[in-house]
Amino acid sequence: MNLKEQLVALLELQTIDSKVKELDSTIRALPGRLDGIRRDLAKLEGLVGAERQRVTETQTWRKQQEEQLQRDQDAMRMAKSKLSGTRTGKEYNAATREVDYKKKAISEREAELKKVTEVLATTTSQAGAHDKDVDDLKTHLATEEAAVNEKIAALQTEITEVTVGRGAVRARVEPAWLKTYDTLTSKRGYAVAPVIKGSCQGCHMKLPPQLNNILARMESLEVCPRCGRIVYRQDTLTPAEPAT
Ligand SMILES: [Zn+2]
Repeated sequence: MNLKEQLVALLELQTIDSKVKELDSTIRALPGRLDGIRRDLAKLEGLVGAERQRVTETQTWRKQQEEQLQRDQDAMRMAKSKLSGTRTGKEYNAATREVDYKKKAISEREAELKKVTEVLATTTSQAGAHDKDVDDLKTHLATEEAAVNEKIAALQTEITEVTVGRGAVRARVEPAWLKTYDTLTSKRGYAVAPVIKGSCQGCHMKLPPQLNNILARMESLEVCPRCGRIVYRQDTLTPAEPAT
């Protein structure tokens, strides 16, 4: 196989590999798009959790207050029945004081209960609203996940299509150059660089004039003295315009 054919095959291989690399990096970057939504969701779920906790605590507090009110009301009934059974003025006075005291305790407890019930209503409705936000965000995340997965699948299909024939292209390159190509690709990202106006486009070094002449005459496949990439001149690949 002549030099030009080697070079053409290497460039074809590089076109395939670059495209695959580009598609691969797009695929890897895609799931990251969901990070923001996931963070928002976690934050919102934390908030709702704290609200639910507060509702539970307030409910417990209200239950305690209700039980205490029940006890106060029982004590009030006892105090009242005691009042009716008093025989002396001294007993009557003591029982009256007890009834007054219980009355005050009950009205304080009732005021407290009213407040707690209001707070509970507000907290519960807030938590309910945030529950809906969580559901909406979950739906949004699921939609986005599906879109990302669909894109990934499409890109993977594209990779499969792009790599059809890659083996055949590799088979056209001499094994020694294939080895050089693979090493350069893994170390430097890509292996074959054009020379434009005497400079290697892989590292932008000006090539020695003798090397540039060798490339112009296509005497042999050469590598850049600085970056090691396989270098070529574009004009050696494009057929000269037929003279008219
Ligand atoms: Zn170079």
